[in-house]
Amino acid sequence: MVGAGADVEDSAVEAALRPKSLAEFVGQPTVREQLDLVLTAARQRGATADHVLLSGAPGLGKTTLSMIIAAEMGAPIRITSGPAIQHAGDLAAILSSLQEGEVLFLDEIHRMSRPAEEMLYMAMEDFRVDVVVGKGPGATAIPLELPPFTLVGATTRAGLLPPPLRDRFGFTAHMEFYEPAELERVVHRSARLLEVEADAPGAAEIASRSRGTPRIANRLLRRVRDYAQVKADGFVTREIARQALAVYEVDERGLDRLDRSVLQALLKLFGGGPVGLSTLAVAVGEERETVEEVAEPFLVREGLLARTPRGRVATPAAWEHLGLTPPRSGAP
Ligand code: ADP
Repeated sequence: MVGAGADVEDSAVEAALRPKSLAEFVGQPTVREQLDLVLTAARQRGATADHVLLSGAPGLGKTTLSMIIAAEMGAPIRITSGPAIQHAGDLAAILSSLQEGEVLFLDEIHRMSRPAEEMLYMAMEDFRVDVVVGKGPGATAIPLELPPFTLVGATTRAGLLPPPLRDRFGFTAHMEFYEPAELERVVHRSARLLEVEADAPGAAEIASRSRGTPRIANRLLRRVRDYAQVKADGFVTREIARQALAVYEVDERGLDRLDRSVLQALLKLFGGGPVGLSTLAVAVGEERETVEEVAEPFLVREGLLARTPRGRVATPAAWEHLGLTPPRSGAP
């Protein structure tokens, strides 16, 4: 699959393509301006930057921004994720080894365990944790002072965070999907770094199928590069991009195989819905979260699927896009 999550990623190439400074970071003008103020002010005061929460779909640049925050603050960065922290002790070990001013990037912060989350509240607010030693009635809490640090939390859904956690972030940035023109700049920038030659229409074709997401733009560029190299002279034109993306089953609207299978299940198996998320996920053989966080935000945004209180419903545009006729079309 070329369109969805980050799992089968060529991480070395992805790392090489990451912008290293706020100035290099394409798009997200509001987030960039606000973050620049937060960081510049902290730097001027010689202070550690406030905790930052980044919310937005996968691949929009949350990890990249956390690294930029560290770079702009001249601070080291530690990267971990919610699912990796199952016990409060795991978090205590990380927190107690932080250096002063260090950035701690906690990806998927909404998936942390409850006890770890509670420990984090105190760490964020008072730069202190209570380490519990022993068990049962003899257990004692030993307070441990922490150096000031900046927590950068990332989540695909800020709404899932408990309010006490959300409130402890000094700054929350919501990352939007990118405009086609911004994605074109991402493609041109990456093409330059990968030493791929692409003309403007070729880059625009890749950008327009990238679902508003830089990670996908970079991935499609790499696949188009492969095709251009093997089947042509290596130069990326609109026609080459079209042929390549047809091979990888990414259609003109940027829907990939996962998106289409979600829509197909919804239309063919459930007559267009409403159907519950879990049922839909089982029908396409995917995790509930993959359907909800990878496929749906884009399908909703494209006006192909609606989330209603009774379940997922296909819009008329979905029937049209897949070339199918609704069962009770209401036609005379
Ligand atoms: P997230 O953490 O939100 O899933 P990442 O920060 O890992 O996303 O970004 C995925 C890829 O997309 C990175 O390799 C990076 O090169 C690219 N990218 C993300 N945002 C931008 C941007 N604003 N400008 C240029 N490239 C970007």
